Amino acid sequence: MDRTAYDFIFCVFAFVLGAAVGSFLNVCIYRLPVDLSINRPRRSFCPACNKPIPWHQNLPLASWLVLRGRCANCGSRISFRYFAVELLTALLFLAVWQRFPWPVAIAYWVFVSFLIVGTFIDFEHFIIPDQVTIGGMIAGIAASVSVPALMETDSRFAAGVRSLLAAALGYVILLLVLEAGKIAFGRKRIRFDTPTPFTWTKREDDADFIVGNEKSLWSDHFAREKDRLLLQCDAAKIDNHSYGNVTLDFHYDRIAVEGEEFLLDHVNEISGVACELLIPREAMGRGDLKFLAAIGAFLGWRAVLFSLFAGSLLGSIIGLITLIVGKRVWSAKLPFGPYLGFGAVSWMFFGDTFLRWYAGLLNL
Ligand SMILES: [Zn+2]
Repeated sequence: MDRTAYDFIFCVFAFVLGAAVGSFLNVCIYRLPVDLSINRPRRSFCPACNKPIPWHQNLPLASWLVLRGRCANCGSRISFRYFAVELLTALLFLAVWQRFPWPVAIAYWVFVSFLIVGTFIDFEHFIIPDQVTIGGMIAGIAASVSVPALMETDSRFAAGVRSLLAAALGYVILLLVLEAGKIAFGRKRIRFDTPTPFTWTKREDDADFIVGNEKSLWSDHFAREKDRLLLQCDAAKIDNHSYGNVTLDFHYDRIAVEGEEFLLDHVNEISGVACELLIPREAMGRGDLKFLAAIGAFLGWRAVLFSLFAGSLLGSIIGLITLIVGKRVWSAKLPFGPYLGFGAVSWMFFGDTFLRWYAGLLNL
């Protein structure tokens, strides 16, 4: 068989394998966050009518197209995400196969699988489960020991150490960024020396939050659905409701006070005198830190810096666009995981080009 035919068959194989793996990743994306086992029930089932899907209706890519995105039994819509994940996985598997020597390509197939699961779960649930992040870290270190070329060395030992260090760097650097972000406004617990007046004023789909002389945007304090901010007040006023000594418990979309809840969408102004501000610690999303650690374990320390940089850049651009277009709903922050994933894939394919360009820039 001549060489082109041989190459072609392998490319088709990579694409089909990617689609099949994508089909499995869909199962992980659906089941991991809701704590269903991946193996039981063994066959896929329709999320609407719970009917098991027979194998001939469960072919990657093809079935979704043939059934036009509907369940054959009950006719309810099957999310486009199923098709998108299969196609994305298939294309990435193909691109990885064409670009890298086979041992590296196989390691990267595993890597992009973890990235896709983490990204799509984060989109929907604002979390990345430990199976993906810690699992990805362990897989990355194991892959680096098996294929030391991933860490640009011949020694398995050196590759393992580099992979481990890059994972640690990923965790620590994002931790520092997050902590610095908090210091920019305040520490986790601030006791005011004297009772300090504050105002919260609705402004379009965000709000100005002013405590004493410090002014901030409300959305800066909320990155996750679970984030909270507690304000211990001597006196407070929510629109025309007045309270004495009270704790205001802010969530990203609502405020709870003395058992009552107000949706922030329906509130125009909150003011009062505060004596203490508290940001509960468990509110921080540790998933992103571990996700970046997993990226480091597979791609090395430069990829950690690049992914963080490229992810933040893309995040800011998209944030700015949604702000300008006016599409931003109340503090609807996009999750950070998908941006990190985007940065990591960019590095995988264009990291070399970027480094050469960067080196050229320094040599000017
Ligand atoms: Zn159904």
